[in-house]
Amino acid sequence: MTDSRLGAAEVKKLVRQVLTTRPNEIGCDECLELLDRFVEMTLEGRDTTEALPLVQQHLQQCDCCHEEFQALLSVLRNLD
Ligand SMILES: [Zn+2]
Repeated sequence: MTDSRLGAAEVKKLVRQVLTTRPNEIGCDECLELLDRFVEMTLEGRDTTEALPLVQQHLQQCDCCHEEFQALLSVLRNLD
């Protein structure tokens, strides 16, 4: 019993560490820097939520970057 309680405490501590070390948000500059890769991955049908969660998150919050994303996406789609 003591072992499992200790285990739970350890797990909680680890979870808290992961949550606190995770950066909350990125700004527009960082978002635009990563946007090329994000669009490429989107076009390749890869999981951007997994690979670039902060860009995904930013695009949901920022109309400006979302417009940029849509524009880039349609340009690259038309290239194919
Ligand atoms: Zn932005």
